Amino acid sequence: MNITIIGSGYVGLVTGVCLAQIGHRVICIDNDAEKTKKLQQGKVPIYEPGLEELMKPLMKKKRLSFTTTFRAAIKASEVIFIAVGTPSKKSGEADLTYVENVAREIAVNMDSYKLIVEKSTVPAATGKRIERTVKMNLPKKLREGKRRIEFDVASNPEFLREGAAIDDFMNPDRVVIGVESKRAERLLREVYKPLKTHMVVTNINSAEMIKHAANSFLATKISFANALSQICDRVGADILKVADGMGYDRRIGRSFLNAGIGYGGSCFPKDVDAFIRLSEKSGYPFELLKEVRNINEQQKAAFVKLVEDKLWILKNKVIGVLGLAFKPDTDDMRNAPSIDIIRALQHEGARIKAYDPQAVANSRPYLKGVTYGKDPYATAKGCDCLLLLTEWAEFKKLNYKKIGQSMNRALIFDGRNFLNDKDLENNGFEYHGIGRGRPVENP
Ligand code: NAD
Repeated sequence: MNITIIGSGYVGLVTGVCLAQIGHRVICIDNDAEKTKKLQQGKVPIYEPGLEELMKPLMKKKRLSFTTTFRAAIKASEVIFIAVGTPSKKSGEADLTYVENVAREIAVNMDSYKLIVEKSTVPAATGKRIERTVKMNLPKKLREGKRRIEFDVASNPEFLREGAAIDDFMNPDRVVIGVESKRAERLLREVYKPLKTHMVVTNINSAEMIKHAANSFLATKISFANALSQICDRVGADILKVADGMGYDRRIGRSFLNAGIGYGGSCFPKDVDAFIRLSEKSGYPFELLKEVRNINEQQKAAFVKLVEDKLWILKNKVIGVLGLAFKPDTDDMRNAPSIDIIRALQHEGARIKAYDPQAVANSRPYLKGVTYGKDPYATAKGCDCLLLLTEWAEFKKLNYKKIGQSMNRALIFDGRNFLNDKDLENNGFEYHGIGRGRPVENP
């Protein structure tokens, strides 16, 4: 099939590459000229394992191409995915400016039947708005009369995780499609046929709700584990064992029960905010989700307080940070918990030295006054403590004996419960995890 994807970001690019890989001919449009130029040269502008290797041969075989111009790319395909950003407004509501812009672009450039698929995460009932926008902006001669053209809108929310995006796309737990015509259903089934996965087929509003519900539920699980971790610290229980004990129960499951410094990234914080706003507007304020968000904020504050408890005066203390990205295997810094934590420590006068394997360049606009080490060893040298804020696999394999000896004080705060506490203690470190049953002073 010929498929056009609008927006070549984390989701659009992965979707484009993977759909080309499973046999379609894909054109990706992005209005960012610099990004598109890089892509046309076969360079992936983001860090996503395996993506560039997969992309290059597909471009050579002319199954995948990149452009900044709409006309030809809209004409060429029957199926058009919208994968532009849907950031938060100040109120928390989703800002759908890019989606609206794109809907208008499609309308003024289409000359035959199109299936317009929302892949961006959008509030329930956005499908109807896209439909209206396209109708309103279709040239009059194509809206009515003999040359009238048809179109359908569909919803196909994306569940991939950055860092594991290709595997998530190729082997999804399910594909959700929200459709309101047989034609739209047939086309989307055809798009995904090669994946041989379970399809959940429903109407557009329900598909949009599935995305709200899934992300909010995962955020709730994380906040539940984080709230437990606070109580664990106060009563001398170990959250790792508590989560294991809960997680073996198949009704609960172990995933997303990891306590830490809270969720971040480009999705959970904004999607939880957007769902809270939607729930308020709908007349059923989702109070539970407000608490999920509060717990997430408190978790970062509690981590800063723990560091403060142990270091006492933060002014002029040098704090080494390992990991900045919101999660491992990505360079994405959007809403990374490291940003709030570093800013709070800086506010108290601490000096920050940081290292991340991939996210340094993206972190610079968010972090002022931070010095960057060339590797974890250079970063830790002379520090009064170390914070592990992203669980990159390479941080497990470091020589902590050497690191501890080079520090002012061998003190480590493991914000992800990722390292082996006993090993670190054997290497001379004072270790603090999250909710590991060691009460914080002055809770
Ligand atoms: P992104 O910011 O990385 O990419 C969006 C792209 O759209 C950018 O390259 C931007 O230049 C382009 N764009 C904006 N306006 C445009 C226009 N008018 N014409 C052409 N291109 C335009 O965002 P992302 O992380 O890929 O997220 C996209 C959507 O997918 C969001 O709604 C997000 O919530 C959702 N989502 C993201 C993830 C994830 O892990 N990143 C997972 C699931 C769903």
